[in-house]
Parts: sequence; structure tokens; C-alpha cells
Amino acid sequence: MTYTQTEREAAELAGLREGYPGWNVWRASGGAWMASRRAELDLRQVRAGCSPTLMEDTCRRLWRQLEAESLADRHTADGYLCSVDAAWWHLLDGRACCGVTGGAVGAVERL
Ligand SMILES: [Zn+2]
Repeated sequence: MTYTQTEREAAELAGLREGYPGWNVWRASGGAWMASRRAELDLRQVRAGCSPTLMEDTCRRLWRQLEAESLADRHTADGYLCSVDAAWWHLLDGRACCGVTGGAVGAVERL
């Protein structure tokens, strides 16, 4: 690993920590990008498929997963029947994840 890579990874970690203050973010000794929630999942989050801990191969994948988890967190906190999987697809191509973005039932039927 070169010095430049280490510096870049430190900056990427800092960016993730700043963007997702509700999570602890770190690199595992094997190289995986890890994140774990600082708070326990509530019932709505459990039902939405939220994870207490994430493990991804790359920074980009972890960022995308954190974004989906955070979106589902916000929507379920507002009382919508969202899910992490639906939020992930919403971020990828804009399809509806729940009532906030247009109704998940309609989105599923169009698949
Ligand atoms: Zn949603």
C-alpha cells in the first residue's frame, strides 16, 4: 500500500464519518469497509430490513449502502412502509421506495 492510497482512504473514511454521524465507520483488518450503528434499531427499522452492521468490499459500496439505510431510516421514522432494499433501488434509478417517493406497490407492479 502506498502512502497516497493510505491518505486517500483516510479521507474517504473521514468523509463517511462526517456524512453518517449515526454510524461508526472503519476498515477491518482484512480490508473490508465496515460500519455499525451507534444506536439500537427500533421496531420500524427492523421491519424495514435495516442492518446494525454493514460490511462492504469498497468505500463506494459502503457509501451506497449507508445512503440506502439512512433513507429507509428517515422514511420509516416518518411512518412510511419503506425498506432498505426499496431505498437502494430508489437511489439507483429513482423508482419509488414508499409513499414518500410515490408508492412502493406501484413500483413493484411495474417491474
Ligand atoms: Zn422510502
